[in-house]
Amino acid sequence: MLLGTGNPPADPDRSGPATAIVVNDTPYLVDMGAGIVRRAKSAVVDRGVTGLDPVKLRHVFVTHLHSDHTVGFPDLLLTPWVLGRRFPLEVYGPTGIKAMSEHLLEAYRADFETRTKDRPLFTVGSFPEAHAVNAHEVQPGVVYKDANVTVTAFATKHAMESYGYRFETADRRIVITGDTNPTQATIDACQGCDVLIHEVLTNDWLGRRPDFRQYASRFHTTTTQLTELATKAKPGLLILYHASLSLRPAVDSERSTPAVLLGEMAPYPGRVVIGRDLDVY
Ligand SMILES: [Zn+2]
Ligand SMILES: [Zn+2]
Repeated sequence: MLLGTGNPPADPDRSGPATAIVVNDTPYLVDMGAGIVRRAKSAVVDRGVTGLDPVKLRHVFVTHLHSDHTVGFPDLLLTPWVLGRRFPLEVYGPTGIKAMSEHLLEAYRADFETRTKDRPLFTVGSFPEAHAVNAHEVQPGVVYKDANVTVTAFATKHAMESYGYRFETADRRIVITGDTNPTQATIDACQGCDVLIHEVLTNDWLGRRPDFRQYASRFHTTTTQLTELATKAKPGLLILYHASLSLRPAVDSERSTPAVLLGEMAPYPGRVVIGRDLDVY
C-alpha cells in the first residue's frame, strides 16, 4: 500500500514518502513522510485496508533521516496515541534515530503531561505508556522478524547513512529502496523479488536543473540507471516512487509528467508502473 509517493515539494497530490506492507491485518511502515497518518486513515476509509487504522500503527522502518522521510514522525507518534493506541511506537532506522526520538519526546512533553493528567476528560490518557518510542538503530542484516514477516536492511548510497528494506512474507518478497544511487545491494536484495519500489529522477527534469545534477549523480537514480539496475534485479513489478514528477502543471510545471517518466522507462523490458498515493499492490 503506497501511502505517500512524493518527495520534498509540498505536492497536494503526493504525500511525503511512506509505504505500508500489510500482512494479516498488521501494518509495517517504511518512512514517515508528511501526511502519513491521514493517508493511513484514507487507506481504511477509501480502500478498505483495515490494517491501517491509525491505532494499529506500531512498526516503522526509516530509510534515512532526511526531513522528507521523517517529518511525519511526531504525527505517527502523537496522533494514534491521542486516538487511543495502546502500545509504544517501535522505530527502526539509521544512527541518529534514537536521538531524534528523545528530542521529540522532550519537544512534546507539555502535551504528554497535560493529556495524561486530564485523563478524566480525554480517552487519550488511558494508555500513558503509549506515547513512548522504542528506537532501534539498525545495521545491514535481519532487523526484525515475527510470524508475518522478516525484515532485512541493506546499505544504500545516499547523502547520509541510509538503508533499503526487504520484506519477506509467506507469499511475497518486497524491496523498498528509499533514496539512493544505484547499488549492487539493491540488486542482491531483490534477485527476482515480487515487487521493487525504487526512487527515480527523470533525465528530462535533470536537464532543467543543472544545479542539482552533480548531487543527483552521487545520491539519486536516473531513469537510465534504473532501467539498467532493474534489468539485473528482475522484479516481478517495478514501482516508481519519490520521482521528479508532477501530476498537474498547476502544482509544478518544471517537473516531468507521468507520460515523460514512463517514456524514459520504455527501454526497460519488465513490468513498470508509476506509484500513486493510496495504490494497493
Ligand atoms: Zn527523499
Ligand atoms: Zn534523501
